[in-house]
Amino acid sequence: MPEDVSQLTCDQFQRRLCELLASDQPIEEHPHYKACILCRYLVRGFEEMIERTLGEQLDPKDGQEPKRKDDWPEAT
Ligand SMILES: [Zn+2]
Repeated sequence: MPEDVSQLTCDQFQRRLCELLASDQPIEEHPHYKACILCRYLVRGFEEMIERTLGEQLDPKDGQEPKRKDDWPEAT
């Protein structure tokens, strides 16, 4: 039986969030993401966490404060 993704509950959406973020489909296109402000906030926090974990290798997006880590503090 095909699943209607627009009928997903927040719980179902959040459970497959990792899967969705890892897929080729942009999360912004997901019907539940579009419909649910709670999950939008959740995804945004999740993505920020991932970007931070990756060490800010990605280009800073508009509206986001770029964090530069060019200079590591030297242990003297
Ligand atoms: Zn939701």
